[in-house]
Amino acid sequence: MSASTVSYGSAAPVASGSGLPLVDLRSDTVTRPTAAMREVIANAAVGDDVFGDDPSVNALQDRIAGLLGFEAALFMPSGTSSNLCALLAHCGRGDEYLVGQLAHTYRYEGGGGAVLGGIQPQPITQQPDGTLDLAEVEAAIKPDDAHFARTRLLALENTWNGRVLPADYLARATALARRRGLAAHLDGARLFNAAVASGVPVGAIAAGFDSVSVCFSKGLGAPAGSALCGSREFIARAHRIRKLTGGGMRQVGLLAAAALHALDHHVERLADDHVLARRLADGLAALPGISVTPPQTNIVFAQVEGGRGPALLAHLQSRGVMATGLIGLRFVTHLDVDAAGIDRAVAAAGEFLSS
Ligand SMILES: *Cc1c(COP(=O)(O)O)cnc(C)c1O
Repeated sequence: MSASTVSYGSAAPVASGSGLPLVDLRSDTVTRPTAAMREVIANAAVGDDVFGDDPSVNALQDRIAGLLGFEAALFMPSGTSSNLCALLAHCGRGDEYLVGQLAHTYRYEGGGGAVLGGIQPQPITQQPDGTLDLAEVEAAIKPDDAHFARTRLLALENTWNGRVLPADYLARATALARRRGLAAHLDGARLFNAAVASGVPVGAIAAGFDSVSVCFSKGLGAPAGSALCGSREFIARAHRIRKLTGGGMRQVGLLAAAALHALDHHVERLADDHVLARRLADGLAALPGISVTPPQTNIVFAQVEGGRGPALLAHLQSRGVMATGLIGLRFVTHLDVDAAGIDRAVAAAGEFLSS
């Protein structure tokens, strides 16, 4: 195949039967790299990143550390590996971290901190807005006593289930951690969604934390990759842990270049995803038998009356619209859906709920 006939193959998949494009609202991770991103990947300068030789990785690490206001950053294969390396770099065997009961690090990452680090989680029930009651957090910090694990770290998440944590809460939570000698980690998988929705720059949201993890493979539309940011000394520890957990990658500038492209072209446009989420929420809320939580960013949660949630999901699927039903119905908007797709989703839900 000559260069001029290369197909970048970024066309969206088609729903079986209808011939219409699939409207995949399962997650913002389902995006395919755009043609422009594929071109950047194809032309990326690379080297062996285990030797620290990959110019694209180094550029990305410098860029994201600067954006978030940290000394250093480390490119990671996934958000899970990024959070795991953070937990293991902050805590040792027999240490404890305080975390939301429904936080991703605690609930959806296979218990990696406990499995691989001997780190005990102390989950704290989240309030509906995703915040933790800081009096409860403080009461959960263990005294220096041989009976207890050593409380070392407070881990927060922003956005949480698509909700933007209030700036004054983040300031109070990180101040509490500092006052009590704990480190503070932010799982900012969707940090850029929080920044775009609130108008607060990522660096200001990250201020007060000792480490922050961000994902390039969610709303930003890169095929894979996350970054962990922190002090030089913290990142040196995380680097060792990344290696021992198998996360040292070689010519991974291919992915870093995609992430750099995403930072240039896919941040401001997250606002479009937020608009589409509201369009979907408004459309669904006008239907009978469903209640919708108004979205702040790109995630819409809905509860269907009479236990009809799974049947609605199946109906949507039959119309080429995909969503998930793990915690109520969840719809996530992203780079690969447009207003026409959202309107098809609402129409398909309407066929089912109005019948
Ligand atoms: C997706 C996600 C992660 C993990 O990222 P993976 O790349 O899927 O491992 C971590 N935290 C939050 C809040 C997430 O949404």
